[in-house]
Amino acid sequence: MPPIRDQPVGATEPRALPSRAARSMDIDLAVFILADGFRADVLRALCESDKMPNFSRYVLREGSHVEGVTVLPSVTDVAYLPMLTGQYPGAANMPGIRWVDKSRFTAGNFVVSGHRSYIGPAHFRFNEDLPDSLETLFELSPNSMAIRSDIHRGLPSGSNRFYGMSWPLMFLSHYFKRSDFVDKFAFNSLIKSLNGNASDLPRFIFLPLLGVDTASHAHGPHHKRTIDAYQRIDGIIGSIVNRLKKFGVWDRTHLMIASDHGHSQTQDHLDLTRLVSELGYSVFEHPSIYPRKLDAAVAVSGNAFANVYVASDGRWERSLVGDELEREHQRLLETLRHRPEVEWAAYRHDNGAVKIISDSGTGLVHRKGERFIYSYEGSDPLELGFSSASVHESEALELTIDGRFPDALEQLSQIFTSERTGDLVVTSKPGYDLRGKREWPEHRSSHGALCREHMKVPILSNRPLSASGPVRTVDIFPTIAESLDLTSTKPIPGRSLW
Ligand SMILES: [Zn+2]
Repeated sequence: MPPIRDQPVGATEPRALPSRAARSMDIDLAVFILADGFRADVLRALCESDKMPNFSRYVLREGSHVEGVTVLPSVTDVAYLPMLTGQYPGAANMPGIRWVDKSRFTAGNFVVSGHRSYIGPAHFRFNEDLPDSLETLFELSPNSMAIRSDIHRGLPSGSNRFYGMSWPLMFLSHYFKRSDFVDKFAFNSLIKSLNGNASDLPRFIFLPLLGVDTASHAHGPHHKRTIDAYQRIDGIIGSIVNRLKKFGVWDRTHLMIASDHGHSQTQDHLDLTRLVSELGYSVFEHPSIYPRKLDAAVAVSGNAFANVYVASDGRWERSLVGDELEREHQRLLETLRHRPEVEWAAYRHDNGAVKIISDSGTGLVHRKGERFIYSYEGSDPLELGFSSASVHESEALELTIDGRFPDALEQLSQIFTSERTGDLVVTSKPGYDLRGKREWPEHRSSHGALCREHMKVPILSNRPLSASGPVRTVDIFPTIAESLDLTSTKPIPGRSLW
């Protein structure tokens, strides 16, 4: 926890970036493996006890293992955006794996307009929904290949291997609570494509591996079967490196491995939809999307994060701000903040500020230029350890990394830049999630929230990077771009870790 400060922090010059590591100019191939659901502390403990021999040998011996934070919401696919597009979910206007667009919710074809769930067959919409303001790594580097990537804009035809074929297997993996066989098919698909001449290799390869996320949901983040899943992925890394060695390109490869979110054990479920219904609302929730008179919607991600939308006198046109939300939906706000399962709720306040309400206090974060202004009443709901503080954006991560909610100022600010973010964002405390009867099979572990268990992620590179402090997953995009001698053509918030 940072020390308590009475004075504005970060009042001096922004922290200088560490001196740049000499990036070797011999990189012909960048490989990015997204280890879905890897907890930073679990991976570190496994590496320290020599249980990840291929990570140790091929990545850590000469490379970097950096402390990273992901984005809010910390959930699969949405948290891939910073790595593959360089953008936050807020800027991408994709604030969850389920969302409602209030401006379109009651207009047009109700079945398809104004809301999304990317779970199941609608997963393909994720790529279609990417706004033009984003640039994918595949657009930046058209000579790329991916294996089963939901984000694939810019990939040449046929270069998203195992994508169409994977969906029956994904369906089975959900109900059998294991995806080691999906990872195996993905790995085989990659190995098959490394068959021709080394000169025919793409410059960038993206491979997401799901085994740890699925095992964590099924058994918990520390269960033996989950640890087995970490070690299976270690085995896959070893096999990929051996194949690249046989190809004669390993010496000219930059390998990065990172996770999109962590996990926390779930003992109990708060059925948020039911709770809102019991307050008298008629609630929309996927997959029940048939048209009816509605005055609220609940969209859960992960399942510890939810966007909650409410109508104002039957109107859905826009997000509610500050006073009007508090005036019209006070009972909902008060109920949520005092529920023992709820960590806090947050919503838009006046002049672009974000208000955070919890059982013990109320906070207000406001981004003004390059600074965050933060204040609270009662106990600090974000437990930042400083009050009435003004924090320069360059210090916002380092000052919060060891707290309960790493990178809270940046993440709460970015998520509310999306017009599709709920009138309320609700997160559950570790031990709970927010999706009740509709989640089957039952989840024993969750993610999506801003707590350290979900936000802290490992970021690894087989070559030494210059980053010495904590970094964000938005920094991966410019790092890989630089490995390929490319520069983003769109403005992005991250910086290269070289
Ligand atoms: Zn998950």
